[in-house]
Amino acid sequence: MTIVPQMNLSREALEPYWLPFTANRAFKANPRLFVGAKGMYYTTAEGRQLLDGMAGLWCVNAGHGPERITAAIREQAGHLDYVSSFQMSHPLAFKLAERIAGLTPKGLDRVFFVNSGSEAVDSALKIARAYHRARGDAGRTRLIGRAKGYHGMGFGGLSVAGIARHRRDFGPLLADVDHLPHTYNREHQAFSRGQPAWGAHLADELEALTQIHDASTIAAVIVEPVTGSGGVLPPPKGYLERLRAICDRHGILLIFDEVITGYGRLGEAFGSTALGVTPDIITCAKGMTNGAVPMGGVIASTKVYDAFMAGPEAAVELMHGYTYSGHPLACAAGLAAIDVYEELDLFTRTATMSAYWEKQAHSLQGEPHIVDVRNIGLLAAIEIAPRPDEPGSRSAAAGNLCYEAGVLVRTAGDALVLSPPLIISEAEIDRIFDTIRQAVRAIA
Ligand code: PLP
Repeated sequence: MTIVPQMNLSREALEPYWLPFTANRAFKANPRLFVGAKGMYYTTAEGRQLLDGMAGLWCVNAGHGPERITAAIREQAGHLDYVSSFQMSHPLAFKLAERIAGLTPKGLDRVFFVNSGSEAVDSALKIARAYHRARGDAGRTRLIGRAKGYHGMGFGGLSVAGIARHRRDFGPLLADVDHLPHTYNREHQAFSRGQPAWGAHLADELEALTQIHDASTIAAVIVEPVTGSGGVLPPPKGYLERLRAICDRHGILLIFDEVITGYGRLGEAFGSTALGVTPDIITCAKGMTNGAVPMGGVIASTKVYDAFMAGPEAAVELMHGYTYSGHPLACAAGLAAIDVYEELDLFTRTATMSAYWEKQAHSLQGEPHIVDVRNIGLLAAIEIAPRPDEPGSRSAAAGNLCYEAGVLVRTAGDALVLSPPLIISEAEIDRIFDTIRQAVRAIA
């Protein structure tokens, strides 16, 4: 029997757990196990400290384990462990919705709770279709996503998403879906700082789609304000504004999937505010509870909510929800997370720190294999030229070297993607980019 030394777990004991988005056999032969986390650092099972360059999975915005959030969860568990949100609720859910409405762009103030980003997206797509139906416009069912988009793993989110490898294995997805082109063009945009100057015209592809499908059949367009998992692609200057104008012209709802950009990543509570474009619906998750308890949300405009409120008062207006919607532990964590963000003035700090982040990220220009650096807020992608016929292998090698050197980064295709906790210091920023520098110098 082989023993995984650091955990005293046999190789066989690793078998029953089928890990998501993981090469299970490779992982189980060489497991990366974490046993603790505090602030900017993970502790591995071998007792190593790892600088977290990914805020967990784009979620631990205030760093790991703020005491206030831990205490709030502990205390809530002792009072009310669970109550359904169907025809009943509990006070914290209302308090949290009110606090969230105070963070969103004006007019986006009705919050529907779910348990993940995927559920938030599927819920938002359903709300968009049901909104049109409630207004007597039931013919509007078509949903428009975008190439390179990531919207979680439900069938709805996957249908509007634009990463072929994610969609390939799962058979026919939703009908009535189309996609905009992505906004990345290295020739025109390489080494842009923040929003690239080139590419606003790509929004006009939405106008082109209305000529194929007829605008009156389109319910909603969903995009991430900054494409995240698809490789950190900030929107070209003017692009989102143009998308907004086309949606307005044709009565199409605009959904911003802010699962990553929500809760401070771009230096404002929501990316919509940071980028100056207001959608009709926002989806969020991740930073909502600082990653401590699963939670997601759909934040709708008053206009969208009110359209549902026209029928008989005793009738359920939206036949949708989940057992754990508005879970008391998640609400307690969500309120405490906002307290922590406000106490640390974390969103303003992010806006300030992102200038240093940008400078250090771009100091990698000219290092071996690096063909692009992109950044916005406290997000960055370092694009590494692939080895011939081996897409992803060089970036994976660079990521592994960083891991060995004590810095956790994530690979997305040929890019290293970075999304650190927003509490990161200048010295920690230096360490992340210096580690990447050493890694790319060391690999063939
Ligand atoms: N939407 C976006 C933009 C995301 O980045 C993610 C996850 O990374 C999701 C949706 C799905 O969230 P979850 O994994 O919580 O279902």
